[in-house]
Amino acid sequence: MNTADTGHLAEQFAEIGLVPGVPLADADLAVVVTCAVRQHAEDKAASKIGELALWKRQRLGRAIAVTGCMAAEHGGSLLTRFPAIDYVFDVRDPDGFFARVRDLYAGALEGPVPLPAGDQLCAYVPVIHGCNEMCTYCIVPFVRGRERSRSVGEIVAEVGRLVARGVREVTLLGQNVNSYRDPDSGADLAALMAQVDRVPGLWRQRFLTSHPRNASPRLLDAIRDLPTACEQLHLPVQSGSDACLGRMKREYSVRAYRATLAAARATVPGLALSTDIIVGFCQETEPEFQDTLRLLDEVAFDVVHVQAYSPRPGTAAWRRDDDVPLAEKKHRLQRVLQLQRTISERRNRALVGSAVEVLVEGHGADDGRPYGRTRQGRVTWLESPAAVGDLVTAEVRSATAWQLVAA
Ligand code: SF4
Repeated sequence: MNTADTGHLAEQFAEIGLVPGVPLADADLAVVVTCAVRQHAEDKAASKIGELALWKRQRLGRAIAVTGCMAAEHGGSLLTRFPAIDYVFDVRDPDGFFARVRDLYAGALEGPVPLPAGDQLCAYVPVIHGCNEMCTYCIVPFVRGRERSRSVGEIVAEVGRLVARGVREVTLLGQNVNSYRDPDSGADLAALMAQVDRVPGLWRQRFLTSHPRNASPRLLDAIRDLPTACEQLHLPVQSGSDACLGRMKREYSVRAYRATLAAARATVPGLALSTDIIVGFCQETEPEFQDTLRLLDEVAFDVVHVQAYSPRPGTAAWRRDDDVPLAEKKHRLQRVLQLQRTISERRNRALVGSAVEVLVEGHGADDGRPYGRTRQGRVTWLESPAAVGDLVTAEVRSATAWQLVAA
């Protein structure tokens, strides 16, 4: 979402006449788009602001702006905490900030500047902002607000503009993307995808990130039936224990989650499944954690993203005891990674000898080999020459847990 927000800010800077994305050494204004989902992300932003304070001192007239979830969470208090910051603004409502920037550089701006020539093949398109769920560990509803869907027309027009600039793959984004509803017609994500599918020149579409409760049969049918819809579903489960899911207020049972995955696999041939896991959530016992390992083993996801629980001030879980020691959280994290490495390797190796479609995104810095991703999102290196933007069908020759090699 921050990548998408950064792209939108760049467009707005270009519109008022500032050139976005120049090297920091040449820049007058630095904008830090922050994340608050884990303490580690906030620490990284704080360290970046510290580096920028030095950058700012090196030339008169430089300024620092901070936006994103940390800005929504802490607001103007960031100006006191980091005196080098000049502006804090809400990325959902940046008009006031851009008005001040326009005033600041008035006289030096000569009207809109073109965005850097597009060599972008894949783009993120936010379709719904915010989240109406209240998972007890999550800060998103507090910093991104309640759900607000964009209209189908607006989204399709944006995809059309992106395709005209050379984009061939879009990822429809939302913190709870499969809760999407057009504000006027009530069209759901499946209906939106059907409209996006009709944009001439678009080759692929995906969506991120979904709540298991909203993975409807209509959506699974859309993944199967729409030519541009990639066979990939990211469905965060977070824990394999009903008790833990209850404390997280995830509003589904492990049994219901399993049934959803079974339906997804039965509906969409060749579907790649991925998930998110939080280890060491409040009061997570060893047997509860083993339930998670058992679920991962049974389901055999293609990819698992795992994080150690990080308490966030203001959330319901903040009031609970963060009672799993850090060393134990790290140990559980390693156990998930170890198990998943074996599973991912097995699943990728099963593809050896089969054909995959690869959208070439670049060339390796060391050996110049082309690489890209399959429709299922697997990173694939090609052993035959190909140019960026080519859509290549190749046979998988070898595989590791993380990538394929095809020719
Ligand atoms: S559904 Fe996702 S974004 Fe919404 S509260 Fe739960 S974890 Fe956070």
